[in-house]
Amino acid sequence: MINLQTQLKSLACVYCRSSLTIVGKTLRCTHCHYQFPIINGLPMMLDLNDFGSVQTTKLGAEALFTKPLLYKAKINLLLRLNKTDDISVDNILLGKAVLDIGCGPFTYGYDTKLPASITGIDLSPQFVQSMSAADPSNFYIVASAAKIPYADKSFDVSLLRYILHHIPGSTEGILKEVARVTRGPILIFDHVLSESSLQRKIQARYWALFDGGHHYYSMKEWDRLLSPYKVTTFRRTGRMFGNICQIIMQPTKTK
Ligand SMILES: [Zn+2]
Repeated sequence: MINLQTQLKSLACVYCRSSLTIVGKTLRCTHCHYQFPIINGLPMMLDLNDFGSVQTTKLGAEALFTKPLLYKAKINLLLRLNKTDDISVDNILLGKAVLDIGCGPFTYGYDTKLPASITGIDLSPQFVQSMSAADPSNFYIVASAAKIPYADKSFDVSLLRYILHHIPGSTEGILKEVARVTRGPILIFDHVLSESSLQRKIQARYWALFDGGHHYYSMKEWDRLLSPYKVTTFRRTGRMFGNICQIIMQPTKTK
């Protein structure tokens, strides 16, 4: 188990981004004095609105996000059904401080030994619990991608792997927040709507059955979402009419 004390230098209050101290079973903000609970050893770095969404995901279509084993079965099925030609991320992750956003209950698709450190955030306490147990040398907390509880430029690399299409609300806002905490590359793996309306219908069926996401972007929407950033790689892959996109971008245009 990672010592919480060592994490305090970069953790920040989600309301005012001030530093935190451990007070009993809470992390208390040194400025606004908000107290974030630590439940079963897991810091719950959420504002009150996000606490609401943690409760409601249990009732919605994405109920499996509270069930690590079901989720694992889903991912394995998807990987088998939809073979993708993944871009290599090993060199990008090697020796880096990595933020894995929406880390899920287990890691797949990259070697967790490559980064110098991994910080995983997820809205599901069950997933964070499962990751903490499986990978005790890294740090996992309950937090939202919309309000990442870290100071500016805390990470070398951020990962958004098949997570954006599951988050309701402003995707622009999430990308902006990820860019705020990231010094170097941001890796996005997600979905793309086909240009053909017939293929879109087939994709919609497929996604409804196997994914249950919130919103799937067209290429036009991706172009608009990514326009504030410097995109160095955009790969389309996947059997379901190039339904997967894999993106590497820098947090600012000029970098
Ligand atoms: Zn505060």
